[in-house]
Parts: sequence; structure tokens; C-alpha cells
Amino acid sequence: KKRNPNEPEFYQAVEEVLNSITPVLEKNERYRNTGILERLVEPERQIIFRVPWVDDNGKVRVNRGFRIQFNSAIGPYKGGIRFHPSVYSGIVKFLGFEQIFKNSLSGLPIGGGKGGADFDPKGKSDGEIMRFCQSFMNELFRHIGADIDVPAGDIGVGKREIGYLFGQYKKLKNGYEAGVFTGKGLTYGGSLVRKEATGYGLIYFVKKMLEQNGHSLEGKKVIISGAGNVAIYACEKAQQLGAKVIAMCDSKGYIYDEKGINIDTIKTIKEIKRQRISEYTNYNPNAEYYGNQRDIWNVKCDLALPCATQNDIGIEEAEKLIENQVKFIGEGANMPCTNQALELFLKNNILVAPAKAANAGGVSTSALEMSQNSIRLSWSFEEVDEKLKEIMENIFELTSKSAMKYSSKTNYIAGANIAGFIKVAEAMLSQGVI
Ligand code: NDP
Repeated sequence: KKRNPNEPEFYQAVEEVLNSITPVLEKNERYRNTGILERLVEPERQIIFRVPWVDDNGKVRVNRGFRIQFNSAIGPYKGGIRFHPSVYSGIVKFLGFEQIFKNSLSGLPIGGGKGGADFDPKGKSDGEIMRFCQSFMNELFRHIGADIDVPAGDIGVGKREIGYLFGQYKKLKNGYEAGVFTGKGLTYGGSLVRKEATGYGLIYFVKKMLEQNGHSLEGKKVIISGAGNVAIYACEKAQQLGAKVIAMCDSKGYIYDEKGINIDTIKTIKEIKRQRISEYTNYNPNAEYYGNQRDIWNVKCDLALPCATQNDIGIEEAEKLIENQVKFIGEGANMPCTNQALELFLKNNILVAPAKAANAGGVSTSALEMSQNSIRLSWSFEEVDEKLKEIMENIFELTSKSAMKYSSKTNYIAGANIAGFIKVAEAMLSQGVI
């Protein structure tokens, strides 16, 4: 904490991993004697930079940009870019740290990194977004590359922003290096299923978890926080597999639709019109809107899927969910539950699909996008979806096996942390003290 002052989210992420891997460290002297832990929590490189841009009124604005290249033991740094006013080093570091283990679990050759800026895209014109992205890339371009560091989207960074970032990279580098960014549009090197991948992957993982414990998604009542990229496609896939999603939210409030969320309406509001979720009731008058986002956790459900942001479910929300007899949690967002909330779920025998494993479908499909860029071919939707499903099933098997070996059969949180850790630790050991 002395070396990383005032970064509570980073401490939280490290604490969760440390708690899980203690039994592995106790059994394995090699990990203790080689400074693996000390090296793992120290990013290989951190870049912090000025992002000046001009708004529509001609005023100069300045934001702070970040890229943390955390660990490259397994492959080039890989992880998204977040544009949100809350972004600072503690957030980027927690995300980068988690990314190391997630990418390791995916089984694909990618290291861990993350980036972002304390820029708020809300209410900005298209021109302002473009100028901001160009200025951000004016610095970032010298630190990334298809074999060095490959960014993607995250909160506030979707297809539009990636287009502007990629366009500026191309202009600065004078060459077409498609593999430097993932989440690209389909007309310039993007992969089918990347948009859907995190949400779909989450549901593929949750389905496996339910099946292993004698349940199915059929008829389950689901609530999903968020109405962004992850939430939308988690909702779509959950409904395709027979579950009923009855509530979703954005940062202002939540909607409740007893008949089941109309996913086409959500896509229209969020992906096309960029409106607030409160508009949903104009299209579906039988639904209800409530102006406090956190109250979504008061809605009774079997399966809760936090897909918005970190620390969405604290102890109070967890207690409410348990009181309402929730049975399963699937973490779509990164670190959406506090460590105390997770402990409470485990204590009450609620099955938790942990973020590092359950939301790894996005980065895995990004790695598939990199493969397609390298061989200059595009695979069909069905091909990529099949590969995604296979990857998520493998991640589940790996998670479940190490849970069984080192903890208890259903402690998938420990399972994911341990499986992710062992692969990175072994790669680091093989490469010497670097
Ligand atoms: P989006 O920007 O597409 O959507 C984010 C959603 O969460 C929006 O509905 C937003 O509401 C809501 N939200 C954001 N911040 C807050 C907050 N402080 N309080 C309440 N609601 C909030 O992001 P993504 O869907 O891409 O990402 C969601 C989560 O999933 C993040 O934790 C991200 O790190 C994680 N993730 C994303 C992956 C991806 O492939 N995109 C991959 C793996 C993890 P509003 O619009 O009102 O701000």
C-alpha cells in the first residue's frame, strides 16, 4: 500500500487473488523463493500522459491518459481502454492486474494490460469524441503494436471510438497494421461475434456452471445491471437459452418488465439512439422505470448478472439478493462484487461465476480477431461463435478442476484465480528474473 498510495480498487483486486492462491504458495516453494508475487503486483510499465483537445466552443480541454503494461510473460499486453470520469491509476491498475489472470485462463497467447482516460464521453458531440480519440492516440501510438500491446474497448469505448483511435494510429504509423487494435468494425479487419462475445461468453460459462450443479437456464428469472455492450448480449443469449430477463439498468435508473426485456428496444435505445434506459417505457408501456440504479438488486431473481462496473454489489446489495433467494451470480463486469459480498455469497452456498473466467469471452474473441488479421482471413459468425463456446467451456473446465483440487468443488472464484496464476507463474519462472 505504501508503494501504491490511495488505490483501493487495486488493493481489492490483489487481495482477492492473494486470498485464493495462498494454498498454492504454501505448497510450492518455487513460487515463494523467486519473488513471483512481488513481480506480479508491479506493472512492467506504466504510461501516464496529457490528452489536450478542443471542444466545440473552441475551448482547450485537458484530460489524463493511461496505459498500464502489466505482464507480458504469456504474450503481448492485451486489454481494453476505458473512457469514464472515474478513471485514475487505481482503476487502470486493478483492471490490468485482473487482465493478466483472465488472459492466462483463456488459453491464448496474450499478456495483461489496460488503459483509459478520465474523459466523459456523455454529452459530447461526434466531433469532440473524434478529436479526443485522435489526441489520445497521438501519444499512445508509440507504445503499442500488433506484437507489443494490443488495446480494445471497455466502458465508454465502443466501435465508434475504436474507429477513430485506429484511424489515427494508421495515419501516424504510415502502414496498415490491423492487428494493433481489436473490436474493429467489420469493414476494416474486425471479427464477427466480437461485439457479442463478452455477453454470450458469460452465458456459456454460467450455463456450464448451472449444469454441473444439476440446474438449467430454462425459465430462470434474471436481472442484469448495465445496458452497455456486455449487458445487451448477455441478455440476448440468456433469453435465447430460455431464461427470462426481467430488469436492466444504466447509471441513472432501472427498468422492470415482467414479460421479459424486449432486447430489440434496448438495442435501439442504447446502440442506435444513445438514449437513457428510461426511454424503454415509451416503447413498452407495460414496463416500469425506477430512478435509482442500485435498487435493481431489490428485484427478486434466480440469477443476477452484474454487467455494469466495479463494486456494483456490496454487502447491502448481497444481503438483499440473498434475502430474495438468489441462487446464482455471474460476473459480467470486472470486479462487480466487493470481496465481502463474494464471501457472503459463498457462505450462503450461492454459486458464483467469477469475472476473470466468466467474462473472458471478449478478450478471447479479440485474440481470435488477431489471428484472423495475421492470416488475412475472416471466419464466419458460426465459426467464431463455435470457437468462443469451446473456449468458454475450456475455461470452465480449468476453473472447476482447480477449484476441486485446491479449494472446494464450487468455489469457482478460487479456481479461476489459481488456474490463471499457475500458468503465468510458470511462464515467468521459465523466463528468469525479468
Ligand atoms: P459500456 O460502456 O458499453 O456499458 C457500461 C454500462 O454500465 C452502461 O449501461 C453504463 O450506464 C453502466 N455504468 C457504467 N458505469 C456505471 C456506474 N458507475 N454506475 C452504474 N452504472 C454504470 O461498457 P461495457 O459493457 O463494455 O463494460 C461493462 C463492464 O464489463 C465493465 O466492467 C468492463 O470492464 C467489463 N468488460 C467488458 C468487456 C467488453 O468486451 N466490452 C470485456 C470484459 C469485461 P451509463 O451509460 O448510464 O453510464
